Amino acid sequence: MSRLSEKTLSRRRFLGLSSCALAAATVGSQVKVLKALAKTGKVGEVTMLPTKQVFTTCAMCVNLCGVTAEVQNGVIHKLNPNPAYTKARGMLCARGNSGLKVTYDPDRLKYPLIRVGERGEGKWRRASWDEALDMVARNLNQLAEKYTRAGVLFASTEGFNEHFFVQLAECFGSPNTLRHPTLCLASNIQGYSATFGTYPSADILNADYIIMGGANRSEAFITPDTIDLLKGEGARRKLVYLDPRFTKTAAKADEWYPIKPGTDMAFILALIHVIVKEGRYDKAFVEANTIGFDKLAPHVEKYTPEWASTECEIPADNIRRIAREFAAAAPHVCYYPGRRSSLFSNDTQMRRAMAILQTIVGAWDVRGGLLPNRRIPLVPHDYLAPWYDGVPARLEAGTATYLSEKDGSWKIFRDKVLEGKPYPVKGMMVYKQNPVMSVPNRTKTLKMMQQMEFICAIDIQMSDTAWMADVVLPEATYLEREDPVMSFGGILPVVTGRKPCIEPMFETKPCLWIMQQLAKRLSDEIYENFDFTMAEYNEHQLKMRPDIKKALETRGAYVDSEVPLYGTTRGKRLRTKSGKIEIYSAKYAENGLDPLPVYTSPEPVPAGKYRLVVGRHAYFTQGTTQNNPYLHELMPNNTLWLHTSEARRLGLKNGRMVRVKSPIGEEKLRLEVTEKIRPDTVYMCHGFGVLSKGLTKIYGKGGCDANLLEDHVEPISGNVAMHHTFVEVSPV
Ligand code: SF4
Repeated sequence: MSRLSEKTLSRRRFLGLSSCALAAATVGSQVKVLKALAKTGKVGEVTMLPTKQVFTTCAMCVNLCGVTAEVQNGVIHKLNPNPAYTKARGMLCARGNSGLKVTYDPDRLKYPLIRVGERGEGKWRRASWDEALDMVARNLNQLAEKYTRAGVLFASTEGFNEHFFVQLAECFGSPNTLRHPTLCLASNIQGYSATFGTYPSADILNADYIIMGGANRSEAFITPDTIDLLKGEGARRKLVYLDPRFTKTAAKADEWYPIKPGTDMAFILALIHVIVKEGRYDKAFVEANTIGFDKLAPHVEKYTPEWASTECEIPADNIRRIAREFAAAAPHVCYYPGRRSSLFSNDTQMRRAMAILQTIVGAWDVRGGLLPNRRIPLVPHDYLAPWYDGVPARLEAGTATYLSEKDGSWKIFRDKVLEGKPYPVKGMMVYKQNPVMSVPNRTKTLKMMQQMEFICAIDIQMSDTAWMADVVLPEATYLEREDPVMSFGGILPVVTGRKPCIEPMFETKPCLWIMQQLAKRLSDEIYENFDFTMAEYNEHQLKMRPDIKKALETRGAYVDSEVPLYGTTRGKRLRTKSGKIEIYSAKYAENGLDPLPVYTSPEPVPAGKYRLVVGRHAYFTQGTTQNNPYLHELMPNNTLWLHTSEARRLGLKNGRMVRVKSPIGEEKLRLEVTEKIRPDTVYMCHGFGVLSKGLTKIYGKGGCDANLLEDHVEPISGNVAMHHTFVEVSPV
């Protein structure tokens, strides 16, 4: 590769080389060549043009921070935080910075691929877009004919373009969509919405007292929240943190409790008990804004701190003191709502308990408390999906009390596909979701995929799911696309978008183009709904808000800093059944659910086993971070955390390889002997142990949590429940 730098390299030749299928040259090193050339200003045919700044939005996690990309001569040199996007607190985290490598990754998908070997064998041939798209459309139409339109599953992850994919599913006529919340926030959203009628944001920056459990803010996802957590000021500022592990968040906390996994609800109910019993609740707030408080007092009578301490292993005196401190600091207090809530099968009711605690101290819709979600409305894009007769309801309809029509339940859906009941699902369209890696019980997911007659994956990299597909369609990366303008909720509502920093490399295409081409091939009726350009789509969305349009053009983001932050719901009807905050949920009672959260103990850890908990890392959170060379260098492997005393008991030393065996699978991991975890619990980071040899940096590294975790479900929302698995640890 170094020899290339000695040659005169035209841009045309650079791109020509880049697009060579089997070129040994890597895109990353071509960029190095261009950077070297850039220093001299002009070399051969390359004239260095001035650097331009392009506004875009980070896609490395769900916070979607604003980005300004430095682009010169068609090459992105650097990503910087966009200062206009105040929600990001003026930063791009390690993952955000490494986004450059998503585009310049030699492993990225470059051309449409068609499987030529056995499914999952990894043998492909390059195809033209026409051939690949024709094949996908033909298969979809055949499956519809054979099994009805519900015979095809459309699975997607959240993102700016997901809307177009879900639209294709709807226009195709399949009710079977599976979206990201069923593996993440579904139970959280359900629990809070049943109480407040909305999923709230936490005003962490202004909170005097924060209790955080079920979230590891310093290491997972939402970096600006982490900054707020550390930046918040005030003499009474306090962070109480519950986690079976001593994480980086624990290191920043005032108090850390290695709570027994699955018992958070006992702790919360005991806090409520103390506050109610001692009359420390906000009587005026409760009177004016809630219903069902009269039923709460008798309900929590038995949930004493002494009782809770036997469940959660936090001393009763500490529980009592924390309850008093929380009530004293109210209303500027947050029981942090968390992020991923797919932990235990009681998650919805646990979130209800958290919301009730927040309510009784009046910490709703006030500075430093929980705030209702708000977003800036844009003009929606309407479409008219064709009507098809004889399409049944979604496969797992009626299996969870509040199953989301659009999100579904991955766990239940997969079981139904394997049963073949109530009807067969034999086709699968996947847009950047990676169920092989992210749905517990990988063996079942692979079995489900093996029985599919056709699978198409649309992605930017050869994920484990794409590895199992018949056709793989390469999407352009977020730095190469113009994307739909997006309005985000939060404390300050934001509108942002993405402009292409460079043209899509190789033969990659934006999602909208792929959807349009498929629609065209499926039927004229379907295509009618896709006959627009991205520019027209965005123009339509912003037609009532020329101010936002201008802000996006000039600053890359629109932040509504004028919006009143607090008290916006006072005196107004909430989106609950009663219109008030529902401490007691009559709606739940009518549906046979506990109207107030009722605690049940988690299964005890069997002798000789450990409870397996999984989590994220600041450098490693999602599919896009998985094979990234920068991040991989920072974190090349996952390990198994085991407490020192247990390692000693088993005669295992730090750094040796161990076998981790659960009832459904087995993985080999390097042991990390540490004091930073409960002795009855082991931990591993999600995202390693891939099957796909197309992810060359990470292939063969670490172990896969989805191959160990048993598939349990949260019955109210249908969310997965990930922490019910016990494992044995032994030397390899
Ligand atoms: S928190 Fe980091 S990864 Fe997430 S959007 Fe912001 S910069 Fe990107």
